[in-house]
Amino acid sequence: MNIRNCINCNSKSLSIFLNSEINPIYLLRKKTLICQNCGLAFKDIRVNDKGYINSIKSNYYSNFNKKELDKRFNARIIFDKTRAKKYYEYIKKKILLNKKKLKVLDIGGAEGWFANYIKINHPTFDVYNLEPDINAIKYGKIKYPEIKHICKRLEDIDKSNLKDIDIITYWGGFYRTAEPNKTINKIFKVTSKNANLFFSLPYTFDNPTRQDNTPYGSLDEIIGNGNIVFLNSFYLEKLFESKFTINENKIIQNLPFKKKIPILHMTKRNNVIKKTSKYRRSNYEYTSSFLLNYCKKQSINNINKFCKNNKISKIAIWTNPEYSKNIEILFKKTNIKKSILLAEDNWSYTKNHSIDYIYKINVDAIFVTDFTNQNLIFDQLIKRLHIINIKIIRLLDDRYINQEIYEKFQGSFILKKVFNPKIVR
Ligand SMILES: [Zn+2]
Repeated sequence: MNIRNCINCNSKSLSIFLNSEINPIYLLRKKTLICQNCGLAFKDIRVNDKGYINSIKSNYYSNFNKKELDKRFNARIIFDKTRAKKYYEYIKKKILLNKKKLKVLDIGGAEGWFANYIKINHPTFDVYNLEPDINAIKYGKIKYPEIKHICKRLEDIDKSNLKDIDIITYWGGFYRTAEPNKTINKIFKVTSKNANLFFSLPYTFDNPTRQDNTPYGSLDEIIGNGNIVFLNSFYLEKLFESKFTINENKIIQNLPFKKKIPILHMTKRNNVIKKTSKYRRSNYEYTSSFLLNYCKKQSINNINKFCKNNKISKIAIWTNPEYSKNIEILFKKTNIKKSILLAEDNWSYTKNHSIDYIYKINVDAIFVTDFTNQNLIFDQLIKRLHIINIKIIRLLDDRYINQEIYEKFQGSFILKKVFNPKIVR
């Protein structure tokens, strides 16, 4: 069954959005939806979707054997202790931890590194690690026997015998929660009066950079990678606010990493209140325009910066007929003064500019935009034409060239990859 109402505002005005080709197989088949009322975008995945549940069972860690798990664990824990320390310091600033008995639950904690940090510093607390991956749990039981490990999805927290939890932490990953509104009801039920939640969001749709601040290179990565709800701090807050008071919604630096991420500190309300948010058309327009224009904007910035640094103002563009029009339009939006399109000749005669035209025009560089063939073209340009004094430029990394570059959506062609020029020679 498909989702018919928005998982944030309950509106029925859902429309189909672009999909990502970088996703686990079960998500490739599932549509991306966007709410025209509140602007939240999410995958059409129900909590009890069988394919989704099965795919979680065979996810990330199951590809590792014992030795590889050991290696990965030993490598990551070197810095994860610092992460744990930073999160712990944040919590200590917000609430008192000097009670003898508190029940603490860390969600999505892999082997339980954060839960263990709490247990070591507060041995009298009951500390739980909730994690859906059986291999991570198996390993965690050996490494951290002092904490209680529960192998379950957050969506099934009500099936875990957990109750009266005082503190719940979730350092990322909430964007992987199917129908989060239903899950928040369950969190409400398993927590004690005035319970505190600490949720961070290491990945947000409107700041699609990795932990070291390098930007993602495609729209597919932003709406793919197994993400189910495309959250930022605004939507994270909106999802929780009827059941939890938002004490703080702050952007922190995710030390020891470079990236800044939202963190929410919330306290359970005594009574559920009605959602008060009135959404505007601009909420929808923000999300859709951000996602649809991300690659185009980034590409124009990258090209402008690159051409300025390399003193390039007149260029030739080697095009592929499939999207030469779109490429032409994009380059017109850059600061490049003059660009001339060249293309491979056909067997049947046409008057198009052929490659020999490059000798007649005075250009600083040739940009290759026939992506599937780009390496063959670089090779031929270098070995057979001996074009000197003209820089040969690639726009796309090889990992993107066999993917969809443009996708037709609502009558326009949406650029799905970020062009990032590099000198080939
Ligand atoms: Zn909505």
